[in-house]
Amino acid sequence: MNKKFISTFYFIQNLPKEKTAVAFSGGKDSLVVLHLASMAGIRKAVFSDTTIESQKVIDYAKEVSSAFGVEVEIARPRKTFFELLPLLGPPSTKNRWCCPTVKYQQMNEYARRNGIQIFLTGLRREESSRRRQYKEIDRNPMLPYLVEANPILDWTEQDVWDYIKDNALPLPPGYAEHPRNGCVLCPYKSETELEALQKEEPSIWEPFMAYLKEFAREQGLKDVEGFLKGGWRHYRAPQKRRVIYELPQEGLMKIADKANQKQLRILAEKQLNCVGCGACLSLCPKGALFLSEETGRIDVDASACTRCYDCLRASGENSLRGACIARNYSLAKQKVDASTILGPSKLVELNTTFYFSRL
Ligand code: SF4
Ligand code: SF4
Ligand code: SF4
Repeated sequence: MNKKFISTFYFIQNLPKEKTAVAFSGGKDSLVVLHLASMAGIRKAVFSDTTIESQKVIDYAKEVSSAFGVEVEIARPRKTFFELLPLLGPPSTKNRWCCPTVKYQQMNEYARRNGIQIFLTGLRREESSRRRQYKEIDRNPMLPYLVEANPILDWTEQDVWDYIKDNALPLPPGYAEHPRNGCVLCPYKSETELEALQKEEPSIWEPFMAYLKEFAREQGLKDVEGFLKGGWRHYRAPQKRRVIYELPQEGLMKIADKANQKQLRILAEKQLNCVGCGACLSLCPKGALFLSEETGRIDVDASACTRCYDCLRASGENSLRGACIARNYSLAKQKVDASTILGPSKLVELNTTFYFSRL
């Protein structure tokens, strides 16, 4: 083993084993990390199945798990990509609702269930200019209250291939010539790569294209061909679909202590727009948020809630865009008329009995 490999191994070995899991993507970089972690005695890993992953990669993740003696859990989101698609519109670089809902949501839940505080990744600086800024121990805004450890950040691509060769690590079939992993219709992939994936993954692409065609027709888009050929990747959903919703005055928003009006408006809009994606559950450090079985919408266990309002912060560390995916991205977004809660005569009654579910 060369020096770089040895120091990476010691870095991983010094992490608290019971609190660390590998975030395994099925690609060559995370394969190296999975192997090093297994040698260092880390026994947990999670593969986040976004429901738009290639079945071949999922099968491979299961096989690697038994080969390395690491328990790789295939974690799935609460709502699939295709369940959320008609509600939130085409995923794009300007409408990126999918990462928090179908990729990171289940990783947050996996971490909470298993007492994990650190995710080991296979990120490398060489891969992009953004990644050049990453640190060995870093934060990911999509994984609140967790840290990411990036042990092969300074490895080169050649280091990775050397390690794979030296240790005879198994890659997914055909990967070395034709690397494929991650979501098969990611808007961040190149057009060439997406064209190839359309042919390779028809069971995902055909329903997606059918949806895009219907969406283009409904929206009356002018350049339908350009949209279908790849324009969808940078599409921004129209703002005109927002409607103003007036809150009922009767029994309005009784919430404890210090919540300010902005938070109250966010709270109401979360409840009104909630599509049950589960992305905001991880925002609560106390685990007080849940999806109601009765309504399928966000709700709170008032006995566990400490009224910190972390779940109502629209920006900043450990927050979700707009504090809620549907509030931010839903095609049929409902906004609360601020005057219904901001007028001095309508100020909120300080009472804990009402919260999310009682609007
Ligand atoms: S399609 Fe791309 S942007 Fe969406 S969840 Fe997958 S990786 Fe994230
Ligand atoms: S409140 Fe918003 S983020 Fe939370 S589960 Fe509902 S839609 Fe998802
Ligand atoms: S306000 Fe309550 S539900 Fe929201 S994050 Fe804080 S403790 Fe959790």
